[in-house]
Amino acid sequence: MLDSIIKYIVIATVAMSLGLLPAYIAFRNGRNMLLWWIYGTLLFPAAIVHALMLGRMSMGGCPYCRSIVDRNADYCKRCGYEFRSSE
Ligand SMILES: [Zn+2]
Repeated sequence: MLDSIIKYIVIATVAMSLGLLPAYIAFRNGRNMLLWWIYGTLLFPAAIVHALMLGRMSMGGCPYCRSIVDRNADYCKRCGYEFRSSE
C-alpha cells in the first residue's frame, strides 16, 4: 500500500519535472506557463513537440538579411538590423 503511494509520488514528481520543459519553452514564447505545465505533465510527448513548434513559428526572420532571429531580440545578430517593437 505504502509502496504504491510512494511509486505514484515518484511518477508524479518525474512527470511534473518533465512538464516544466515544454512549459518553459511555451512561457518564453508568451504562453501561460501554468497551463503548459499541466499540459506537459499530462501529455509530455505532445506538449514538447507542440512547444518546440511554437518556438519555431515565433522565430521571425530578419526583414533585412532573412536570417532567423529570436522574437525577443532587439536587433539582428547577423546584420545589426534594429527591430521596432511590434507589441
Ligand atoms: Zn538581419
